[in-house]
Amino acid sequence: MSDYKIETKCLHSGWVPKKGEPRMLPIIQSTTFKYDTTDEMGRLFDLKDDGYFYTRVQNPTNDMVAAKIADLEGGVAALLTSSGQAANFYATLNLCEAGDHLISTSTIYGGTFNLFAVTFKKLGIECTFVDPDASSEEIEKAFRPNTKLVFGETIANPALTVLDIEKFAKLAHSHKVPLIVDNTFATPVNCQPFKWGADIVTHSTTKYMDGHAAQVGGAIVDSGNFDWESNAEKFSCLTTPDESYHGLIYTQAFGKKAYITKATVTLMRDLGSIPSPMNAFILNLGLESMPLRVERHCYNAQKVAEFLNAHEKVSSVNYAGLPSDKYHERAKKYMPKGTCGVISFELKGGRESAVHFMDSLKLATIATHVADAKTCVLHPASHTHRQMNDEQLKEAGVSPGMIRFSVGIENIDDILSDLEQALKNA
Ligand SMILES: *Cc1c(COP(=O)(O)O)cnc(C)c1O
Repeated sequence: MSDYKIETKCLHSGWVPKKGEPRMLPIIQSTTFKYDTTDEMGRLFDLKDDGYFYTRVQNPTNDMVAAKIADLEGGVAALLTSSGQAANFYATLNLCEAGDHLISTSTIYGGTFNLFAVTFKKLGIECTFVDPDASSEEIEKAFRPNTKLVFGETIANPALTVLDIEKFAKLAHSHKVPLIVDNTFATPVNCQPFKWGADIVTHSTTKYMDGHAAQVGGAIVDSGNFDWESNAEKFSCLTTPDESYHGLIYTQAFGKKAYITKATVTLMRDLGSIPSPMNAFILNLGLESMPLRVERHCYNAQKVAEFLNAHEKVSSVNYAGLPSDKYHERAKKYMPKGTCGVISFELKGGRESAVHFMDSLKLATIATHVADAKTCVLHPASHTHRQMNDEQLKEAGVSPGMIRFSVGIENIDDILSDLEQALKNA
């Protein structure tokens, strides 16, 4: 499918039916798969043959949707997970073990921040958080001999900082480690991080990919570009024998798919965060219309950002589509078609006004969600980032009065009138 444009790939990649087969992606709602001989099944367990034997490791419906996402990102293969959290967990744990270190930008999703700062610490993995806009010299200082990877978000949730992917890729590669980019907010419709040097991309498919708040899911996409052998000692998990597969070496057995295959056959085998085939089917429906929705999200969000920016009760607006935004130029480079539908802003009245404003909204719903077809709103300091102290909030790019507004695909006039009446009460 690689020659088609993204709108076409969203509809036609992944499941390609042959004569007489269903036009729609089939839901293979089965845990098990039948074989005729003991040896046939045994060869699958040894990874000598390719095939399905148990849905915790691989399922055909999931794989077809993963293949579509890999195609959209321009990668060699992808793995679906049961949530975006599981995707970021597996993507990093696939390279890190106790005693290792990773570098992440500080403005990342709250759940990922907790994963790296708290849970990884308990596992013996340390994370250094860096300001995404720090100079290369400054970020350089965070690298250690045991650093395994660098992590960032294309557009950070909810800080909306835009990652300088080329800068981070260059830094990571000069230390012979990969750059992992969470591309949830931009989606491959607006940005394809592999084109700018990222090595692995992750997604919370719960957001724009599904787009209807119908399933929680995640994906990891492997570009196949990172040369693990060039830093074979550091990435011995991929370049030396794995005892749990009778001494198989991933880079030798799977080449460009070494990383994603290891994540599938070890992490998914041992930890088991597989999505149900039904959820993969729902995700696929969302993917089919994603380019249309993303275009409308961006159109509406631009109008909302301009409206808020001109409003007397609003003290600041973060949206890279505004020419006055700190990230406008960078966004134009990495995302010329638009960024996303999520805006954050602050009212002159601070935290208290924010609460009054949110409680007055009629169309926009208060929901712990973003990137959904329906407009929704959230107060990070009292919701997603509740666990953080003021210092951590600042580092994460979240101020106590910040409102995160996820612009849906309703008619723009209705969204603007709702904002107008709620701002009157703020
Ligand atoms: C929501 C989100 C996640 C976590 O995904 P879930 O599907 O909720 O587990 C990770 N990264 C980003 C950027 C997100 O927006």
